[in-house]
Formats: sequence, C-alpha cells, structure tokens
Amino acid sequence: MTEFELIDLVGAQAAGARPDVVLGIGDDAAVLEVPQGAQLVACVDTMVEGVHFLPDTAPADLGWKALAVNLSDLAAMGATPTWALLALTLPSGDAEFVRGFAQGFRELARQYSVALVGGDTTQGPLTVTVTALGTVECGTAISRAGARVGDRVFVTGTLGEGAGALTLLRQGGTAPSAALLARMRRPQPRVAAGRALRRIAGACIDVSDGLVADLGHICTMSHVAAELDLEALPVSPALAAAFDRTQCQRLALAGGDDYELCFTVAPAHIADVTRALADAGCGATPIGRIVEGSGVRVLDAQGHEVTIGNPGWEHFAT
Ligand code: ADP
Ligand code: MG
Repeated sequence: MTEFELIDLVGAQAAGARPDVVLGIGDDAAVLEVPQGAQLVACVDTMVEGVHFLPDTAPADLGWKALAVNLSDLAAMGATPTWALLALTLPSGDAEFVRGFAQGFRELARQYSVALVGGDTTQGPLTVTVTALGTVECGTAISRAGARVGDRVFVTGTLGEGAGALTLLRQGGTAPSAALLARMRRPQPRVAAGRALRRIAGACIDVSDGLVADLGHICTMSHVAAELDLEALPVSPALAAAFDRTQCQRLALAGGDDYELCFTVAPAHIADVTRALADAGCGATPIGRIVEGSGVRVLDAQGHEVTIGNPGWEHFAT
C-alpha cells in the first residue's frame, strides 16, 4: 500500500470520534477544543522493534501497548485521556500489519474514548511513536515532586508479571501462563486510579522502568528518600506460580513494564485511599515510606537493608 492508502486505512480503523475534535486526521494539524478551566496534559513514547517489543509481537498487541504506555503516563498525572497522535514507521506498506495494529489501538482507545486525531506515516525500521493528550482541572495534576517526609508509599495492583513473562519467553523453557502473557501484551493503564488519586496522592509515577528506579525519580524530584518493605510488595498468584520467592521479589522491584501507579500519601489522607480506589478496578498496597535523604532503600522483615543488583531499565546504560 502507498503512504496515503495506509493513512486512510489507519483513519478508517482507528480514528474514533469526539465532539471536541474540531479538525482531526486529514488536515495539516488537528484542532482540538480544550474545556474551560482545564489544563492540557501531553506525553509521548516511542517503541522500537527489538528494544521495546519482540520482533514476533502480534500487530494488535503492539497497537494496544503503544497507546497503553502513553495512557499510563497520563494516568500517573491524574489526567483524563482525550486525544492521541500516531507516528508509524514501517519497513513496508503491509496492509495486514496496519489493520491489526489499528484494531488493537482502537480497542484500547474506545475504552477511554480517546480519538486519534493525526500522525505521520514513514518507511524505515519498525518504530511506533504515540503522543497522548489529556486534560485535568486546573492545578490538580499529580507531579513527581510532591512527596514529603512521613508520607506512605503505595502501589496499585501487582508487580513483576510483564517482566516475568518476558523472562520466561527469553529463557525458552516453560512457557509463561496466559495471565502473565496478558500483562505483558495488554497492560491496563490505571487511568481511573490516577484520576481518583487527585487531591489524595502527593506524588505519583507509573512503573514502567521498575519500581525502585521509578520511585527513585519521585525521590529525586521531591528531594527525599524512600524505604521499601520487601515483604509488602504485591505479587500475583500467577507470578508466584512461575518463580520462587526471591525471583518474584526481584521482578517486582526491578522488572519494569508493570504500568501500575506508585504514589505517596500524607498520613492525613491514608484513610481515603481505599475509598477513592473503590471503583478504580484495582486496589493499592502500602509498600514503604518517605524519609529524609536521597535514594531508595529496600528493607527485609528485620529492617535490614537488602541490596538489589540492577534497579531497573535504562537506555544507554553501560
Ligand atoms: P503532512 O505532509 O502535512 O505532514 P501527511 O501527509 O503526513 O501530512 O498526513 C496527512 C494527514 O494524515 C494529517 O492529518 C496527518 O495527521 C494524518 N496522518 C498521517 N499519518 C497518520 C497516522 N499514522 N495516524 C493517524 N493520522 C495520520
Ligand atoms: Mg507528515
């Protein structure tokens, strides 16, 4: 297919509709109506074949995940997703790939009423870049900088399953269970949880690079340190069935690809967390506390510090 046939195909399969899209796909740029009293929240994430996904990834799973990782960033801000732009670099004009990709993308976009309003289509090594846009009521976005000494640290859902699935696939021995694979292929961004945590969480981040690494970003931006309780980390039955206890803890601390939200809560708001998340489709577990200093320390049941090797995923790391 040619570039313009591909664009038409993506548009037909994945655009969606919202009344606040004044001009969508087809013009030089999209024109969007931002509601009065709202702030625009914007993020972008790139996925490169062989770096962020395996070469045999199903196109529909890739479409889903390219949007999911961006909605996860919006979720971490407490924002409501509204629009997306899609830059697709494809080795060839493969209509079957584009149809599958657009279908997976659309499936998730529909769940959150996100409209695809533009993008770019080019030839080259398979690379997918999604820009996601959302809104928050003025002044209510949750940043990484709001953690304070004395806060509790929470995480939504369970940790380590996406990385667990990838580990098993790479080892080539026992195949990962369907539950683990689903977490790797179709992560659910915690959009409802992020929205519910506005005015409750001091700081929030989505866990994409690994819990220790991502909580470390909150600590840096907030000028504080964090202590994590190893025994408190939420691990799913699916992960526990596939790995021993120590491996589960390592995956939970450093695996990455979780797309859960790690957030801090001042003592006065701790009682509000459970109620706020009642309709969010996930619970949250207290896993540690914010203290003075810098960095993230992991403590065992006796309160002794444990050392973990590689704290998380980082590009260009030696
Ligand atoms: P330009 O040459 O002005 O950059 P393009 O020919 O690249 O315009 O794109 C034409 C229209 O199609 C634009 O509205 C653009 O946003 C949209 N578009 C191109 N590629 C995609 C894509 N992969 N997904 C969604 N919209 C796209
Ligand atoms: Mg273009």
